[in-house]
This record gives sequence, structure tokens and C-alpha cells, in this order.
Amino acid sequence: MITELKWNVDGHRLLLNISKTELVVAPNICPHGNVPDSPCYHAGIESCLVNYFINTYGLETNHGVVPASENIEIAWAMGGSPWDIDLVEFHMIPVADPHFADWLASVSE
Ligand SMILES: [Zn+2]
Repeated sequence: MITELKWNVDGHRLLLNISKTELVVAPNICPHGNVPDSPCYHAGIESCLVNYFINTYGLETNHGVVPASENIEIAWAMGGSPWDIDLVEFHMIPVADPHFADWLASVSE
């Protein structure tokens, strides 16, 4: 759990599908609609960076543990360059992860 980053809990979700023997990870539609003023908009790709990282890295940037489910709400955080997507440090965690849920409750009191 990386608490020094600013975690965004804004309705981004990832979708899990099993295709034969393969687990397919895909982002759901960006809740902000990829608009330039939204927190997940990255100037380097002119699009939602959450969807970008899920499409590119699947679950590699995930830090949490939850039971498998088809549709998982995630929190996300980024550090690094707002201009160059290759210099972004991206993290996500399922909102329902018990450690994250406890931490979120403690900071939102
Ligand atoms: Zn987005």
C-alpha cells in the first residue's frame, strides 16, 4: 500500500473475462469520457491513462487482493510526467481490497 500517492477513487473499473484458458483484462469505459479536464487525462497520449495502463499492462500495476469478479472497481494513482506516458509511474488497487478499504475509511473521516 503506497500511501504517499494521491489515490483517485472515481469509478474506473476493469473487466475480467476468461477465454478458454486465458484471463483477459480490459478497462471499462472511462467514467470521465476521456475529456481533457479529467484527472485521468494524460497529455502524452491525449486519452485516459487508466485505460491505457490496463490495456498495456493488464494486472501488472495492481497492488491489491480481492476475490475474482467480472467487474472490479479500482482506485488509481500516478506519479511522474504529465507529458510523457513512458515516464509515468502508475498504480492501481481494487477499492474492495481490505487494506485499501481500511486506509480509505481512515483518511476520509
Ligand atoms: Zn479515465
